[in-house]
Amino acid sequence: MIIVMESKATEADVQYVVKRVEELGLKAHLSKGVERTIIGVIGDERLIQKEQLSLLPYVENVIPILKPYKLASRDFKPLDSVIDVAGVKIGGTEVVVIAGPCSVETEEQVITTAQTVKAAGAKLLRGGAYKPRTSPYSFQGLGEDGLKLLARAREKTGLGIVTEVMESVEVDLVAEYADLVQVGARNMQNTKLLRSLSKVKKPVLLKRNFSATLNEFLMSAEYLLSGGNDQVILCERGIRTFVEYTRNTLDLNVVPAIKQLSHLPIIVDPSHGTGRHDLIIPMSRAAIAAGADGLIVEVHPKPAEAYSDGEQSLTPSAFQQLMKEVKSVAAAIGRTT
Ligand code: PEP
Ligand code: MN
Repeated sequence: MIIVMESKATEADVQYVVKRVEELGLKAHLSKGVERTIIGVIGDERLIQKEQLSLLPYVENVIPILKPYKLASRDFKPLDSVIDVAGVKIGGTEVVVIAGPCSVETEEQVITTAQTVKAAGAKLLRGGAYKPRTSPYSFQGLGEDGLKLLARAREKTGLGIVTEVMESVEVDLVAEYADLVQVGARNMQNTKLLRSLSKVKKPVLLKRNFSATLNEFLMSAEYLLSGGNDQVILCERGIRTFVEYTRNTLDLNVVPAIKQLSHLPIIVDPSHGTGRHDLIIPMSRAAIAAGADGLIVEVHPKPAEAYSDGEQSLTPSAFQQLMKEVKSVAAAIGRTT
């Protein structure tokens, strides 16, 4: 349930209610708005009677949240969350583009890509050092050496880094290097990994699993939020359907649906969403028009030589074109780039 405090409630009044919630064996999460504070109450609500909270001083209302996700819901936090990633704000008026190679391969590859995507207007650099590959015979990533190369690219360009973590034991190491830690589609419901990431002081990019319902997607976000990490950005990256002409089906419906149900930012990955470099620009335009807060796009200086996902990587010049088109669509709906 959520407790809506009266607008005249002071910090001490809020803390008094928080203390009572905790004494009742539940957890309190604060959401401070401009007008008033909302307290999200998490735990087994059967332990309490509504009146034990509604009669406390300066409590305006106690409302049950009927959805299975609580902290991720708009009922808990009506205003959009804006997540700061190395000084770049995701979820505000600016549409943020994250770009870079699928995998970190060599120093030259990652630094050249970082420089070219930055020059074209990307705000953050992506690159996988730990790769969740379908085949055990495919390139699995450079591991910590890859993280070091990303850190070098950050030093050279000033771009913050987005990179994936696959296992709980590697969370601290990856979080040390990354500015935004990615949970890949395959791990969206790895609840142990989510719990580890909920204890980390870095924002998390949570990619939707190929077969996850919207509820399951938001419940995974709830693991991060309820564990103590409220810096969560969602990512739609395509789902499995019967179509075979694209790698996945980019479910853009989920963008406005998430905006209705949740305060969390959502970005779109048109590279994995389509699997085809020739569809990335049109689907990026569509994603921004649908209300996405940004994009994460694969770019490679020589896609034909990429160790992974070359067929869905843009060349630097195609990426420049993407940025031009994204700028126009963003401007048409009152957003900046
Ligand atoms: C990736 O971003 O390179 C990746 C593997 O993404 P996903 O988890 O969406 O497949
Ligand atoms: Mn990839």
